[in-house]
Amino acid sequence: MDILPCPACGIRVFPESSYCANGHEVAYDPALRELVAAGGAGCCANRDSLGCSWTAAAPGGLCLSCATTTVVPDLSAPGAQELHAATEAAKRWVFNGLMRLGWFTSDTPNLPEFHLMSEKIEGRRQVVMMGHDDGLITLNIMEADPATAIRRQQEFDEPIRSMIGHVRHEVAHFLFDRLGAEAPGFLPAFRQLMGDERADYGAALEAYYDNGPDPAWQDSHISAYASAHPHEDWAETAAHALHLEDLAQSAAALGLAPSGEGVLDRAQSAGVGLNHMCRALGQPDPYPMVISPAVRQKLDFALGWLDRRLSS
Ligand SMILES: [Zn+2]
Ligand SMILES: [Zn+2]
Repeated sequence: MDILPCPACGIRVFPESSYCANGHEVAYDPALRELVAAGGAGCCANRDSLGCSWTAAAPGGLCLSCATTTVVPDLSAPGAQELHAATEAAKRWVFNGLMRLGWFTSDTPNLPEFHLMSEKIEGRRQVVMMGHDDGLITLNIMEADPATAIRRQQEFDEPIRSMIGHVRHEVAHFLFDRLGAEAPGFLPAFRQLMGDERADYGAALEAYYDNGPDPAWQDSHISAYASAHPHEDWAETAAHALHLEDLAQSAAALGLAPSGEGVLDRAQSAGVGLNHMCRALGQPDPYPMVISPAVRQKLDFALGWLDRRLSS
């Protein structure tokens, strides 16, 4: 993510901050990709309640990201407000990265819609199936809880499971539909590399949950779940490509220049550097991933289609 200058004093302000270190109140304008002086109706209506740091899309209204949430969680449960805020923050982070790549900018009507729910509501639990269905994305805000996230990282053997990862995964399903409809050549190329997504999805998922993943999934898939069906291969691979693009871009914003020719080379180099720095503090590797040549080819494919700056 970019680290932008304060419009009042010029010092660098980290993303998601509402104030610079000198106390100037700032807001992020996602269309300009700049920080602006924050003021009243110019800020997203969720600024005070959810800590949204973006400008409103129209005076007094919500920002582009908050406006895509049409169902908000029951906020009466303890901690729900914080989890809702953390989920919206993850959404903004993902949206911002996609806007940098040329999505959701001049085509604002064509955005996904979000239902934010909590598996934990006052006095009981409910099942919240996260997923994408024809432009509608359901997220479980409990996944933004740090203790829950760490428990599920271990339970599902998904070492970098996170709310940002969930948002990227579900938005990737949405972008698949858009690429299929808008980008000539995408579907044939996809099918050649990752398989035919018209294969029975329900049966594939049932087999995956009954029998477990392909034991050799690591040779050709970014995750075990990616081996369940071509749709999931795309969503897992595209989400990871977006992770890596952001990692490379964030390293560059810090003035760190990872070695490597392309974005993914620079990202992998930044990941190794990140691990090295965390080991200095006795912390686990934040990027404990091993990318096989076949997965690398899929990541190149996904980023090639996701980065619309190349074609526009
Ligand atoms: Zn300032
Ligand atoms: Zn907002």
